[in-house]
Amino acid sequence: MTSEFTRELFDEVMVPNYRPQQVIPVKGEGSRVWDQNCKEYIDFAGGIAVNSLGHCHPELVNALKAQADQLWHLSNVYTNEPALRLAKRLTDATFADKVFFANSGAEANEAAFKLARKYGHDHHGDSKYEIISFVQSFHGRTLFTVAVGGQPKYLDGFHPAPEGITHLPYNDLAALEAAISDRTCAVVLEPIQGEGGVRPADAAFLRGVRELCDKHNALMVFDEVQSGVGRSGHLYAYMAFGVTPDILTTAKSLGGGFPVGAMLTTSHIAESFGFGTHGSTYGGNPLACSVADKVIEIINTPEVLAGVASKHQCFRDNLNKLNEQFGLFAEVRGMGLLIGAELVPEWHGRGGDIIAKAMEHGLMCLVAGPNVLRFAPSLVIPDADINEGMARLGAALAELIGQA
Ligand SMILES: *Cc1c(COP(=O)(O)O)cnc(C)c1O
Repeated sequence: MTSEFTRELFDEVMVPNYRPQQVIPVKGEGSRVWDQNCKEYIDFAGGIAVNSLGHCHPELVNALKAQADQLWHLSNVYTNEPALRLAKRLTDATFADKVFFANSGAEANEAAFKLARKYGHDHHGDSKYEIISFVQSFHGRTLFTVAVGGQPKYLDGFHPAPEGITHLPYNDLAALEAAISDRTCAVVLEPIQGEGGVRPADAAFLRGVRELCDKHNALMVFDEVQSGVGRSGHLYAYMAFGVTPDILTTAKSLGGGFPVGAMLTTSHIAESFGFGTHGSTYGGNPLACSVADKVIEIINTPEVLAGVASKHQCFRDNLNKLNEQFGLFAEVRGMGLLIGAELVPEWHGRGGDIIAKAMEHGLMCLVAGPNVLRFAPSLVIPDADINEGMARLGAALAELIGQA
């Protein structure tokens, strides 16, 4: 089959900030995807931890179609039933009392960081605006969120950035104890760093952060854009660690592929976002909220969450087997279905080569930086697809090593 929409056209008409793979997928079902030439792929990438129920899950398709026949958009001049239903479901299922809806992870974080500053200002005065974040963290691509993110390369050329942001080593409580002060309005972290290499926090570190935040009247903000909505094997990763934040952001898996984000917090903190302080035209859009409500309804069940834990083990067993054969992984880590395989030093920088070769062998997977392979598939991927995908990864690695 030939199409007028080619990968070459991308270079002609798209801003060059992305460099997509050569093939163009056109159809998906469950954890399988087909390209323009009808070649089939197994999807271990999940649209970067987004397609939490695979592609075109029938119940999500039905939720979207039903809402499409009903009402698409109102703006926040009016509220709507799908947004209220989803907000009720999220507050019933978490620590939070209140929800602010956005359209992406970056927007949810933008709201969280603005709220933390506003709360500091409202309760403790003008000098309480400093934000402490962690090296290698990722919070999105708006100017505020890249400034809070811990990868300085994303700020190159975009200065001046918002001020008052410090970056500390992750999982280092002594560093936080030394840096936090009464000027700190928030400590922001991912309970599992995703983009930064799939690094889970230590539970003791999170407990210590909680104590230091309480001592200094700083808000604890968890960015669960990647770790949330069942990905860790719990609805949110904070539940796995037993440490409750003051503000939590969620996106990616929340919409299962439909753009939506949310910021969750308590009634007391939410008061600092009074009438007119913040907003979004699309936030709480009925189509997005209908799909997200169905996503949470399906995922927040003991069966699906237990399935994530067992599929985690299936991934680990397969990766360990591949490692016995090839010895390419220095470490396999992660939680639930957010798994990283760090390459041995001789293979550092080759992550991109591996995912390109995997595509040739019919497997979609990700990197998290140049040295870590990342797997973030559907939370309901069949075990048979995991095993078949791993066989394809093995074939790709064998070919690469043969060439090396
Ligand atoms: C992907 C991601 C974001 C950004 O989300 P967008 O929807 O791309 O804006 C923020 N934080 C974390 C932890 C992420 O993984």
